[in-house]
Amino acid sequence: MQPKQKKIPMRMCMGCGEMKPKRSLIRVVHQKDGAVLLDPGGKLPGRGGYICTDPECLKKARKARRFEKAFSCRIADEVYDALEAALAEAAPEAEDD
Ligand SMILES: [Zn+2]
Repeated sequence: MQPKQKKIPMRMCMGCGEMKPKRSLIRVVHQKDGAVLLDPGGKLPGRGGYICTDPECLKKARKARRFEKAFSCRIADEVYDALEAALAEAAPEAEDD
């Protein structure tokens, strides 16, 4: 375990726009071949964006086309559906503070 005073990297959620610890967000990656997918490990190459594990945030990002703007690409409905399904699976159980 690392000491608590260590600086936590923060990232902005593409859905709600809040800054959150990177660890509590999930990375969405736009790969060179144009594929857009969830990257829970944060290791895939490509341009990335971050989203809360809350499906509502993904819906907001989808509606506002935030990923399309961030990645300068079109994202098909099927891709969003796959992202939503993957997010539901990748989301860790809610923790109480
Ligand atoms: Zn969010």
